[in-house]
Amino acid sequence: MGLKIYMNTITGTNVKTDVNTLKRMKYLIDKLYEYHKLEADEFAFLLENHTASTGVSSIADKKNYTDDENNTNDKNYTDEIESISQYLFEKSRSVAQKYYSNKIYIRGLIEFTNYCRNDCYYCGIRRSNKKADRYRLSFDEILSCCDKGYALGFRTFVLQGGEDLSYSDDDMCHIIYAIKSKYPDCAVTLSIGERSYESYLKYYKAGADRYLLRHETASPTHYRLLHPKNQTLANRKQCLYNLKEIGYQVGTGFMVGSPYQTTRDIVEDLLFIKEFNPHMIGIGPFIPHKDTPFFNKPAGTLELTLFLIGILRLMVPNALIPATTALATIHPQGREKGILAGANVVMPNLSPVHVRKKYTLYDNKICTGEEAAECRFCLQKRIESIGYEIVVDRGDCKPILPS
Ligand code: SF4
Repeated sequence: MGLKIYMNTITGTNVKTDVNTLKRMKYLIDKLYEYHKLEADEFAFLLENHTASTGVSSIADKKNYTDDENNTNDKNYTDEIESISQYLFEKSRSVAQKYYSNKIYIRGLIEFTNYCRNDCYYCGIRRSNKKADRYRLSFDEILSCCDKGYALGFRTFVLQGGEDLSYSDDDMCHIIYAIKSKYPDCAVTLSIGERSYESYLKYYKAGADRYLLRHETASPTHYRLLHPKNQTLANRKQCLYNLKEIGYQVGTGFMVGSPYQTTRDIVEDLLFIKEFNPHMIGIGPFIPHKDTPFFNKPAGTLELTLFLIGILRLMVPNALIPATTALATIHPQGREKGILAGANVVMPNLSPVHVRKKYTLYDNKICTGEEAAECRFCLQKRIESIGYEIVVDRGDCKPILPS
């Protein structure tokens, strides 16, 4: 077995990874499976060793590892770690099966505005991107997306947009109320960023059921590197707690491999998610957009994103976890692999085709040319090919079951 020596970014010490490392990784996965939590240094151990083995993470400070044997041994080691990933995925899949069997929930995504008052450095529709071709969907256009979606079997509509205050609270309530009145058996999810407690309450009273607000990174230092000064992690987190208090099913999440991200940052993400205990957890690889300050930063990796989906499934067993479009953008079978790592939701696009290409948070986003029906049936085939099935269901979060 080849030994691999690398710099541990948590402790700053050189550590050796060998057969004992593999045993310990398995032990920690078993512990997470049983107790749904780990200590910070235990998460770090798993992530460091996974990252060192794949050697493809864009985690900024993980470098500095050297081989002391030849490439064959190196490959053997990587194969061993790959088998650890598969060990994790068997466990995470079994947990997803326990809660959701082989059913995959679909959400109809309606990207209704690409205007945004914010300037997140990683985002293609950030305010400063003068090249973005801006659009807003009208009330009728949004309703027509829902009509199409309902006929295709969608029972959740996700209204997603930048932070666009030209839709007033009354406008948003009008849209939510109209959808819920026409389709009372459907859930409405909002993904429209940071708003006041009062606004969130109004949307909830108008009928909104769920809210997605990724925290993006739980480290204040890292947050500072991804956002301008006026956007704070403290406010982001406060919004999440407000949403939960009001009664929404709340989703959060983060980017994998975002610029300057360290292992410690990811550990903080995991600990925050454990503490917050969201109903939904969305993670996807960072993918650069050509017209942003991060245009030349490397993308996050499939391997680490999948590994983290597995960890999150064990940590929050009943969570709704999407296999994201970003995952499918960095690998042709990204969504299928996400499901096989423990995800149980997919979110195809219901937005009109003429605006799809304009909602580009990152480069090379897939499925921007297909009609909603094409996407729906393409996904169905893909999901059936791995032994799962799409269901016509609101797809709410199930309560925790006894171990
Ligand atoms: S990530 Fe969201 S809040 Fe930030 S600029 Fe993009 S749309 Fe706006």
